[in-house]
Amino acid sequence: MPDEVAEVLLTEEAIWTRVREIAAAVSRDYAGKNLLLVGILRGAVFFLADLARALSIPVEFDFMAISSYGQGAVSSGVVRILKDLDAPITNRHVLIVEDIVDTGFTLGYLLRMLRARNPASLEVCVLLDKAPRRVEQHTIAYTGFVIPDKFVVGYGLDYQQRHRTLPYVGVVRVSA
Ligand code: IMP
Repeated sequence: MPDEVAEVLLTEEAIWTRVREIAAAVSRDYAGKNLLLVGILRGAVFFLADLARALSIPVEFDFMAISSYGQGAVSSGVVRILKDLDAPITNRHVLIVEDIVDTGFTLGYLLRMLRARNPASLEVCVLLDKAPRRVEQHTIAYTGFVIPDKFVVGYGLDYQQRHRTLPYVGVVRVSA
C-alpha cells in the first residue's frame, strides 16, 4: 500500500461484487431500451468499464470531461466542460456514471446541462456517495457504497492525479 494511503475502505472483491449487483439492476431496468452510459472522466473510467462489461443488455457509451475551478480536495461548485459528449443525447436513455458524489455541485451541473438536451430519460449511477457532505440533493438511481467523510483514492479516484490505478478504494492519510 502506498505511504499516502492509510487504510483500505473497499476491497477489490467488495467493489466487484457490488458492480455486478448494480449491473444486474441496470440490465433489468433498461431491458429493451437503447441505453447510453455517460462516463465522467477521469475518475469513472474503471467503474464504467467494469459496469459496462457486466451488463447483459446492449449498451453504448460516451464520455465527458469536466473540471472544478480551484485546487485540491474541496469542490468549488463552479464547473467547466473540458470535453463534451461526441454525440447528441436527444431522445436517448442516458445513465450518468460518476465515481463519487460529495457536495453534489458537480452532479447538479451535469444534470442541468444534460437535461437541457432533452434525453428520453436521465438517471445517475455513482460508485461512492459521500452522503455526510451533501449540500445539493439529487436523486441517485444506483449507488455503489455510502462512505464517510474521508478523502478516498483508487479504482479511478485520485489525490492530485495519484493513486487512480489502485484496485481498491483507500483512505488518504491525513498528514500531521
Ligand atoms: P462534488 O461536486 O463536491 O460532489 O464533488 C465531486 C467531485 O469531487 C468528484 O467527481 C471527484 O472528482 C471529487 N472528489 C470528491 N471527493 C473525493 C474523494 O474523496 N476522492 C477523490 N475525489 C473526490
